[in-house]
Amino acid sequence: MNSTYELPLDEANYSFGFLDEFAKREVRRSILKAIAIPGYQTPYASREMPMGRGFGTGGLQLTLSLIGTNDTLKVIDQGSDDSVNAVNLRHFVELTCPGVDTTEQTSEATLIQSRHRIPEVQLTEEQVLVLQVPYPDPLVVVEPSEARRKIMHGEGDYSRLLTKLYEDIVQFDEITISHRYPTRINGHYVIDPSPIPRYDIPRLHRSKALILLGAGREKKIYAVPPYSVAEPLVFDDVPFRIEDFRDEHGCRRPCCRCGAMDSFLDELIADDGSKTWQCSDSDYCNQRLAEQTHKVSA
Ligand SMILES: [Zn+2]
Repeated sequence: MNSTYELPLDEANYSFGFLDEFAKREVRRSILKAIAIPGYQTPYASREMPMGRGFGTGGLQLTLSLIGTNDTLKVIDQGSDDSVNAVNLRHFVELTCPGVDTTEQTSEATLIQSRHRIPEVQLTEEQVLVLQVPYPDPLVVVEPSEARRKIMHGEGDYSRLLTKLYEDIVQFDEITISHRYPTRINGHYVIDPSPIPRYDIPRLHRSKALILLGAGREKKIYAVPPYSVAEPLVFDDVPFRIEDFRDEHGCRRPCCRCGAMDSFLDELIADDGSKTWQCSDSDYCNQRLAEQTHKVSA
């Protein structure tokens, strides 16, 4: 008996992109609907993937449904191409999509799958960004019933979400949400923009690239189409603020590798308790380092 279960994945005879053509068509139809209604959580029949839900299966199904042999794929996790999740997802696509190129350079990629970050360099109209989403609905923190949440979304009723933000201000003097900041798309639907940091929210606004968000476990796809208006929920007298990475003297910390003063930084804590800060976007950091080395040697 020659069951595919007995074969390693690279020898198993899977169709291009792992998913069957019917499944990919269904995902693409849902993507079109999501683009037509910016910010609307479009349900789709999320398939079982050979990895646990919560490890990017939603993003992966979007990627596999869109990718073709003329595409170049970049996969990042927390801004890094080398983290375990990113390496595994990239390896899976390489195995199941023969002929597809992969890259670590943001500017070379036509399709970028990401968890937790939007790349530092500005994306173009030729690129599609796929974000892996754990919790698609921003209203889940204030309303447990999905049926009621659907009505609230339909009516654009986000008063309870605003109340939640207001409670933060009363308690902490500012809105304390660091990730998943609720963001209104094209003046109607409020989305949970995956767990990207606040720092990345302004990049959603009028993005040249199509941004697709996929939640595999929750079976939802939604989109921020190119040039959409994306506004974080705020109050008139409490402006939206992004992370500024200032030290105790009020100066912005530079990246300890490349010295960047304009990137999102990860805080690294050494064994002795000392802290350093480094660009979370590894490609951005490497490119800057390469440029500096080039200048020194020239
Ligand atoms: Zn850096």
